Amino acid sequence: MSDVRNVIIIGSGPAGYTAALYTARASLKPLVFEGAVTAGGALMNTTDVENFPGFREGIMGPDLMDNMRAQAERFGAELVPDDVVAVDLSEEIKTVTDSAGTVHRAKSVIVSTGSQHRKLGLPREDELSGRGVSWCATCDGFFFKDQDIAVVGGGDTALEEATFLSRFAKSVTVIHRRDALRASKAMQERAFADPKIKFIWDSEVAEIHGDNKLASLTLRNVKTDETAELPVTGLFIAIGHDPRTELFKGQLKLDDDGYLKVDAPSTRTNLSGVFAAGDVVDHTYRQAITAAGTGCSAALDAERFLAAQQ
Ligand code: FAD
Repeated sequence: MSDVRNVIIIGSGPAGYTAALYTARASLKPLVFEGAVTAGGALMNTTDVENFPGFREGIMGPDLMDNMRAQAERFGAELVPDDVVAVDLSEEIKTVTDSAGTVHRAKSVIVSTGSQHRKLGLPREDELSGRGVSWCATCDGFFFKDQDIAVVGGGDTALEEATFLSRFAKSVTVIHRRDALRASKAMQERAFADPKIKFIWDSEVAEIHGDNKLASLTLRNVKTDETAELPVTGLFIAIGHDPRTELFKGQLKLDDDGYLKVDAPSTRTNLSGVFAAGDVVDHTYRQAITAAGTGCSAALDAERFLAAQQ
């Protein structure tokens, strides 16, 4: 059993590292569990990030995360590249168990475990991520000026992305595996009225092609099994996200979609001394800067909570 820490941070994306930076600079000596294979979070899987303020030429995702990590470490954050496998957050002293079974104790915990974008599960998908394959129109739409692109999905997010992307793209093809959309009526009407957006129904992406850069897709009609080629340089996958909240079920309150509930605009969860930030809470904005912003808020909330305990 370890000494009791002031704060343990679970997760190492923009939210976790920002919380680490702030709590470290407040002399709280945070212990940060970064995750075993995915330290650095979602931006480790992308190339250019052009919308994080402060980098006028943009910055590569992994470089941005390296900088955040080093900045937190410079002020004394203790970073551990390991997964948390169990938590008990209900008592005054919270416990967090690592993958070796060691139990760490803390007066406060910041949860910033992010969310996992759903993948199609196709062989070239990860390899071409940031090279034509994307999960975020707000982040990457600008790179596809005057190009032919596709969006996969049939819900509000897919149509919102398609409508947004039609500002830049030459054409946007929405690929949906059914013959009707799940999206709201208003969203559908807007998409149907957009001359740049067309739909391919009853179809799924069967293959992704391109050497180092996306070039085309093979689509398969799920009713007839027929295949067709679609030449596109961009593919936006909008089939949903899964917040990483499994560890906290039964302790922290979740919303209907499984995201952690906080007492907004604060980052307080339903348990005293437990705060949550970033994409594990947010299904609206899902940006690096908003995750970093709420990571800062969580650090300040934890700092004030700890000060009130003394
Ligand atoms: P994440 O970045 O997801 O980090 C969560 C971390 O928690 C991960 O490291 C994970 O390993 C760790 N973790 C989870 N469970 C545990 C556990 N049990 N124990 C220990 N650690 C754990 N946003 C932009 O603003 N601009 C962009 O250009 C942009 N491009 C993107 C490109 C891609 C391909 C993707 C997927 C996303 C992109 N985004 C972009 C969105 C942005 O990456 C996210 O909004 C942001 O990373 C969310 O930060 P976060 O800290 O909440 O979570």
